[in-house]
Amino acid sequence: KAEGVVSPEDLDPLSRVSFPPCMRQLHESIRKTHHAKHGTRMQYGLFLKSIGLGLDDAVRFWRDEFTKTMTPEKFQSHYLYNIRHNYGQEGKRTAYSAFSCMKILSGSVGAGDCHGCPFKHNSQPLLKQQLENYGIPLLGIQSIMDFVSQQQYQLACTKYFEITHPSATVEVIYHPNQFFEMSRKIHTG
Ligand code: SF4
Repeated sequence: KAEGVVSPEDLDPLSRVSFPPCMRQLHESIRKTHHAKHGTRMQYGLFLKSIGLGLDDAVRFWRDEFTKTMTPEKFQSHYLYNIRHNYGQEGKRTAYSAFSCMKILSGSVGAGDCHGCPFKHNSQPLLKQQLENYGIPLLGIQSIMDFVSQQQYQLACTKYFEITHPSATVEVIYHPNQFFEMSRKIHTG
C-alpha cells in the first residue's frame, strides 16, 4: 500500500473499526500511556507503515505521543532513529516488512509488554474483558474462547473478524495487514 494514504488523525477511528486486536491494543496503550517499549514500536510501527502511514506522519504520531511525557530532545536522541530505521532510512537501509501472525505468535512477550497476540499472550480473563469492551456479544466471546483453549489463535482471530464484519466472506487470518485490508474492503466497498 502506498505511503501517505493514512494520517495520524485516521488512527483512532481505524483502530476501532479495522485493526486486529493485536494492533488495537497497542494503539490504545500508546494513547493512554504516551509511551511504548521496543517490541511495541517494532510491531506497531511496521504495521502502520504497511497500512500507508508515511515516514513524516509516523514521526509526527510518535513525537506527539512521546513528548507528552518527555522532552523533544529526548525523543530526538532516543527514539527518532528507531522510527526512521523501520522505514529503511537508517542503518542498512533495509525495507523492513510488517510482522505476520506467525512471527507475532512465536515472539517472546514478557510481563508488562503490550505487543504480541492478545489471543495467545493475554490472560483469559483479560482477553474476555477486552472482547466485551470491544462490543462482542457473550455467545461470540464463548466461541472465540473455545478456539483460544485449543490454542487455535488465528482461528480465534478469524472468528473475531466474522463477528465484527458479519456480511463478509472471510479467509483465515494469517497477517494483521491482511485483517486490515479485508476490513477496509468491506467498509469502503
Ligand atoms: Fe494479530 Fe494475528 Fe493475533 Fe489476529 S491472530 S490478533 S492478526 S497476531
